[in-house]
Amino acid sequence: MPDRFVAPPEYAPRSPLTTECSGCGACCAAPDIHALQKPLGVACLNLGADCRCAVYLSRPAVCRNYQADWVCGEVAPLPTLEARVRRFLEIYGLTAEVEARRSEGLQGLNRDRSD
Ligand code: SF4
Ligand code: SF4
Repeated sequence: MPDRFVAPPEYAPRSPLTTECSGCGACCAAPDIHALQKPLGVACLNLGADCRCAVYLSRPAVCRNYQADWVCGEVAPLPTLEARVRRFLEIYGLTAEVEARRSEGLQGLNRDRSD
């Protein structure tokens, strides 16, 4: 069974010492979480400014079952949540999708304002 803290060969981990969750918040902000109706690239409403979960003790199963892995070593050492989210999306090849959704959202907003 592969060690989930070892990055695939094409990724050089920034923190080879990361072997557990450090609570960086990236996985609560970057991926879409269907069970929480959380869109891609948008922070979960339960994520506090300190990158901690406000409902940690009663967080849903999807969050309880999430396991830290090598991606944490890539994202957690970065200095801001924004940088961590950007890297997380980059690793999973989701950057363009998020940018397209943001642009659609802005266009919608501009349309609403001009009505
Ligand atoms: S990305 Fe990894 S280190 Fe950061 S909060 Fe999620 S599991 Fe923890
Ligand atoms: S409910 Fe808590 S653990 Fe789950 S994504 Fe939101 S902030 Fe993260």
